[in-house]
Amino acid sequence: MSTTRTGREVHLAARPQGWPTNDTFEIVEVEVPAPGPGQVLVRNLFMSVDPYMRGRMNDVKSYVPPFQIGAVMDGGAVGEVVESSSPDVKVGDVVLHGLGWREYAVLDANQVRVLDPNAAPSLSAYLGVLGMPGLTAYAGLFDVADYKDGETVFVSGAAGAVGSLVGQFAKLRGAKRVIGSAGSADKVKHLIEDLGFDAAFNYKDAPVAEQLAAAAPEGIDVYFDNVGGDHLEAAINVLNVHGRAALCGAIAQYNSVEPTPGPRNLVQVIGKRLTLRGLLVGDHAKRTPDFIAEVGGWLRDGKLVVEETVVEGIENAPAAFLGLLRGENTGKMIVKF
Ligand code: NDP
Repeated sequence: MSTTRTGREVHLAARPQGWPTNDTFEIVEVEVPAPGPGQVLVRNLFMSVDPYMRGRMNDVKSYVPPFQIGAVMDGGAVGEVVESSSPDVKVGDVVLHGLGWREYAVLDANQVRVLDPNAAPSLSAYLGVLGMPGLTAYAGLFDVADYKDGETVFVSGAAGAVGSLVGQFAKLRGAKRVIGSAGSADKVKHLIEDLGFDAAFNYKDAPVAEQLAAAAPEGIDVYFDNVGGDHLEAAINVLNVHGRAALCGAIAQYNSVEPTPGPRNLVQVIGKRLTLRGLLVGDHAKRTPDFIAEVGGWLRDGKLVVEETVVEGIENAPAAFLGLLRGENTGKMIVKF
């Protein structure tokens, strides 16, 4: 007699106005269906919480569809195949896929990527340094911002998943000076002492424009923007002629209920012939082989410091997501099941 398998999943209970709260989420126990022909059943081991998920809680048209109220959310996850009806994926394979926020996921075999567990320092690395945030940092810095050896780079959100890699990638490619901003004294210390940044400041200590100008006496050539708002305005002030900014994220405004003002100094874009360019990682999948070759090599050679903040248990996934928005993570925020 076969017993019915059940698993927990996280639903969007309500659309947040401003900051999400615990009431935004509901943990629900559901029956797990058996995989159909060509499908696999995956037991998730790790899932990612990412800032873009805040945007998907709003009912607006965007580059990814919104989460639906009363339905399970989704996002990057790594799991182990526990049943398979596909000749291409075996029981025991470890796979990367897009159905996080649940303990068990049923997917078509072509929706999972079989991973080599020996090719990474940990399986969760496929959600961070060797995954979407890593490719974002790589393509954003080298392609979108067109970074060149010997330049000076400023990155905001510098102690987070993307930012911590941007700064280190720039140093490994011979940056003259790398400057980072983050939201605590401990993070600033981490940037300088562990990640090799040349300068860093806590954006909560004093106006960003003042602190950045002091940290960049010769200006900057590249700004990697994870934050928007006052950070972008400050960066425009110190960008050198022909400087470039990759606009990757604007986390300072993700929970705003009012429209947020733009940089007041945009006129400088003209005189300094600046390039401000938006970045979506999905456009850069073709760079994956280069990214894996170069970043995988740096990892194997011990040249990259990779931090994770790990929260245990699916029941704590909402807290992990809220903590991410509040800055409780250093490096990639991961939920371990
Ligand atoms: P992080 O690991 O950087 O986590 C988010 C961090 O944002 C927090 O740790 C916090 O650090 C910081 N933060 C929160 N609120 C503020 C604020 N008001 N001002 C300044 N910093 C704040 O996340 P990711 O590395 O995953 O993402 C970084 C950025 O990149 C996000 O904006 C995200 O949306 C964007 N992104 C964009 C992609 C694209 O394709 N365009 C793909 C991936 C990410 P602190 O303690 O320093 O405040």
